[in-house]
Amino acid sequence: MSPSQESLTDLSLREALDFSRKNGARALRDIFLGRARDLNLKLNAFLRFSPRDFESHEVDGADPSTRPLYGIPVAVKDNICVRGRQAGCASKILEGHIPPYDATVIERLRLAGAVPFGVCNMDEFAFGSSSESSAFGPVRNPWDLERVPGGSSGGSAASVAARMTLAALGSDTGGSIRQPASFCGVVGLKPTYGRVSRYGLIAFGSSFDQIGPITRTVEDAALLMNVLAGHDPKDSTSAPVPVPDYTRALVRDVKGLRIGLPKEYFIEGMDPEVEKSVRAAAETYRSMGAEIKSVSLPHTRHSVAVYYIVAVAEASSNLGRFDGVEFGLRADAKTLREMYIETRSRGFGAEAKRRILLGTFVLSAGYYEAYYLKGQKVRTLIREDFQKAFREVDLMLTPTAPTPAFKIGEKSNDPLAMYLSDIFTIPVNLAGIPAMSLPCGFSAAGLPIGVQLMARPFEEETIFRAAFAFEQETGFYKRKPPL
Ligand code: GLN
Repeated sequence: MSPSQESLTDLSLREALDFSRKNGARALRDIFLGRARDLNLKLNAFLRFSPRDFESHEVDGADPSTRPLYGIPVAVKDNICVRGRQAGCASKILEGHIPPYDATVIERLRLAGAVPFGVCNMDEFAFGSSSESSAFGPVRNPWDLERVPGGSSGGSAASVAARMTLAALGSDTGGSIRQPASFCGVVGLKPTYGRVSRYGLIAFGSSFDQIGPITRTVEDAALLMNVLAGHDPKDSTSAPVPVPDYTRALVRDVKGLRIGLPKEYFIEGMDPEVEKSVRAAAETYRSMGAEIKSVSLPHTRHSVAVYYIVAVAEASSNLGRFDGVEFGLRADAKTLREMYIETRSRGFGAEAKRRILLGTFVLSAGYYEAYYLKGQKVRTLIREDFQKAFREVDLMLTPTAPTPAFKIGEKSNDPLAMYLSDIFTIPVNLAGIPAMSLPCGFSAAGLPIGVQLMARPFEEETIFRAAFAFEQETGFYKRKPPL
């Protein structure tokens, strides 16, 4: 790759937009495609590239000046449907499943002139925090190939960090956009529940799931959210709330903003380097004129337990449809019952089976009240904690994850240790509020560390304002993985 091409993959979204408006969408695509193919041999971030389906000729045919994302390559997590292309959730059970329609987010991106650029690897059915549970091999972290990129949107985060694409879509049920963003040193936003349509997202936990952008900078995330957000009649849980121009929030000013540090998020056992960087981020905000306050979210300690009841209950019913009849894999068998059993035994990996069993158990007669119903009640208490705290502050600042990226294999045989890596991200999904992870430093070993900003429902603008100010003040986003 020539040096000039190398630097083109470093462009911001706005700069890339200028380039593709001048030189054509295909020129931009080819620059990223070359690099992505090379690096994918190391990173396994993409499951498929589909150059013939790029349809950039269509993009080229449109008036570039009216398309806000003209020619911008956006990588797509393997649980978001793209018409005519396999969507498989990195699972064997969906092998050969070709959706006949575009997810609403894909439709919106195409209208804006963006190009779906390839399909990103992930944890199978988005169950996981390391992208190791993919049926197609683990994704590697561009900052250290022996480490995980986080999960479940690990391929999306790794591909953005490695400059294989300009931006990616992820999905977040309990942290799957933010935790990999933090492990890979990029920006990841989980929007408010209902802000972005879920139509065409293969469901995990329907009352938690949101699609969101993963980008290198806060501005790039705002430009994508301008296109992704908005009401969709095809998703009854999407909210009819007007969408602001998020780029207007990108002013370098946080004076008077009240930022809370929830004391339950600075716990014993968290990595000291993470704590140091996150506390330093709070100090940076103070020095820029924000008011830093201590707040409390007392029910936080129940979050992981509640999530692993309610989310797995939803997952087990959502995955009931994968039985060999309508979608993907079908095993040969003598009877219908045997076909179901054979297909599901062969098609699902170990973590998916664990979740289906757990979810079926908590929903079963006799246990429903003790687990599922009780879980829902505690979920309400957790949501109320946030409502109360947001009366005193405009934003909350926490670590995104308790540690930087861990080693491949380190937690894969210990589900509980894996589940605990989402301790700071899960409460946000239980409450349905928006939150972003953005880079706030590096460990001594050179691994990225992320800080999480949470806001009231539909106040993504406040997050954008504070995130942009911090990013411009500190410049951590400029550091590149040593590939
Ligand atoms: N890591 C969490 C889980 O395993 C969250 C996953 C997600 O957000 N999709 O469920």
